Amino acid sequence: MNGTTSFAAASGINNITFDPGVKMNYSSGEIPVLAKEAQDSANASLNTIANIPPEYRTFENTVIAFDSVMTDYSDAMSPMTLVGDIFPDPEVLAEGLGAKDSYNSFLNDVYTREDLYNAMKGQTAGNPVEQRLYDVVMEEFDKNGLGLSGDKTAVIRDMKTNLSSLETKYNYNINSDDSVVEFTKEELAGISQSDLNKFDRTADKNYSVKLNYPNYAIVMKYADDENARKRAYIAYSNIEADKNTKLIEEAISLRTRIAEEMGYSTWAEYVLSDRMAKNVSNVMDFLNSIKEPLSEKNDEEMKKLLEVKKSIDSNATTVFPWDKVYLSNILKENEYSYDEEKLKSYFPYGSVLNGVFDTCGKLFGVNFIKVENASVWSPDVSLYEVTNSSDGKVLGYLYVDPYVRDGKYTGAAAEMVITGREKNGEYVKPVAVIIGNFEKPQNGRPSLLSVSDIETLFHETGHSLHIILSKSPYGTLSGYNVDFDFTETPSQTLEEWAWDPEILELMSGKYDKPSEKIPDSLLKSVISARDFGKGISYSSQLMYSLVDMYYHNSTVPVNTTNVWNSTYEEVFGEGLPVLIHPQATFPHLMGGYDAGYYGYLWSKVYALDIDEKFKEYGMTNETLGLKLRDDIYSKGNTEDNMVLLENFLGEKPGVDALYDYLGLNTPDET
Ligand SMILES: [Zn+2]
Repeated sequence: MNGTTSFAAASGINNITFDPGVKMNYSSGEIPVLAKEAQDSANASLNTIANIPPEYRTFENTVIAFDSVMTDYSDAMSPMTLVGDIFPDPEVLAEGLGAKDSYNSFLNDVYTREDLYNAMKGQTAGNPVEQRLYDVVMEEFDKNGLGLSGDKTAVIRDMKTNLSSLETKYNYNINSDDSVVEFTKEELAGISQSDLNKFDRTADKNYSVKLNYPNYAIVMKYADDENARKRAYIAYSNIEADKNTKLIEEAISLRTRIAEEMGYSTWAEYVLSDRMAKNVSNVMDFLNSIKEPLSEKNDEEMKKLLEVKKSIDSNATTVFPWDKVYLSNILKENEYSYDEEKLKSYFPYGSVLNGVFDTCGKLFGVNFIKVENASVWSPDVSLYEVTNSSDGKVLGYLYVDPYVRDGKYTGAAAEMVITGREKNGEYVKPVAVIIGNFEKPQNGRPSLLSVSDIETLFHETGHSLHIILSKSPYGTLSGYNVDFDFTETPSQTLEEWAWDPEILELMSGKYDKPSEKIPDSLLKSVISARDFGKGISYSSQLMYSLVDMYYHNSTVPVNTTNVWNSTYEEVFGEGLPVLIHPQATFPHLMGGYDAGYYGYLWSKVYALDIDEKFKEYGMTNETLGLKLRDDIYSKGNTEDNMVLLENFLGEKPGVDALYDYLGLNTPDET
């Protein structure tokens, strides 16, 4: 039966609200009870698996059953953990955050259970996908120290607990930091009154600027006084330096000891063993291979910035770190001047979302159909049914929660709420949610988006399609449950569509006169302005990736400040002019991206490789789109991720596409 028709019968006609199997209405006190029930039920099923007598044990009733229990558990918990990001009622939202903690600690308990590990160890898979499931599940146990002698497992568990408390302290220090820098009004010349109003005033009428990122960004972008920017830079780069430098160095030493106990030479080798990159030497080869094009582009841009600085001060000889954003902004205004507000007036949220769905829909052979009468957690939220264009079959559902709201998660994200997989002879329809933070409609005017907002929408739609197009039979291998360093490839791949002039033109339409498309000249300046700064910003990404690898690929204690300095010099060709400790405010390295920061660049380079094919054969080439769907988006983690990528590309990935992206000549192939 056609999914859309069946839905209309289920909801529209009878005026019953519809939900795709996701409970999203909670009253206070409900979540802790439901979370406990989900955990008890999972525990009971896991005990059953562990207690199967050896003679009755099979791959199906053990490994596949384990996957099924764990996916049931995550499907039960995900709507509640999502509540912790988006729910309007603060009390319920806090319970959602509690559900997240209990979810994480339950996973920890499960993957350190010796009985489950022993039950699964040595089970024989019947086909390659089963083998992949087995490998991925066992890897998770192995990484927790199972399979080592009993004492060692306990030692490792203790060290991991200590590590996570160091990470918690570090992040707590950052979140509760209240450093300020004081400026006179003269020192802040160049900053608009509406931005100045965001700063506190002191008794003597000065400005007391709290050092959070938005405030810091304002000073760095607009303050004309170089010395004011320098003071802000030094203060910002030394936040929590005393406490957090110690904590991160302790964490790095502890990680090294854990890795040694686990039989790895360094923490990076331990972390990378189950990543797409596989080992340190692959990551270092990759980072070194992009060093040259990035440094070429960085130097080219820094030269231009020096010219801008000389036009302000003819004696200037150096562009300092605190000058980069300020001078880039002036350069962009001079060279590509366009009015951001005018630009946004051509991109009201509703038309953009339709444009994104149309573009992706044609490319991947799907339709996004808005579900009326959907049960949602806020009137801002819409639910879409995603169907196959070829046969109308319902593939899954997508919630979109676009606008900024008090208490809501402040970034953009896509989350998997229900996991696609086979269950009781049917395919469970995946459910994804996009969380945005676009401005709210106001005074009868719709929310208006910038091109980088449109890029964000494509990015999160990429994650969502990775979830919804899944054909994996097992939850563990479904959707975006891929290697950590491959997760951002399907999302970053779609970013290029946001910068395609034809697509932008097509989705544009003035909010108060939809037939009026964006003028060609405006479109051209927006697109060319995008390119400046890529060298500088990607060089910074490279530097952070290298710092992370140097910190975590050492067998001896690391002086994090010295390594930061020498890596800065390695990438930018000159040392830092002042003493700073940015490693004290680098939460990635104390929250899951340790020996993993390279993943951003790694996924981006592969995304660009995929984009290159579309640039060659057409950004709206449907044959290629379906191939991308079949080779990567529908596959989840059912095969080695590099194999998936190479199947689509028809060759090994390389860095040529990055050269193109940076506007550099591709080096002769050797
Ligand atoms: Zn992402």
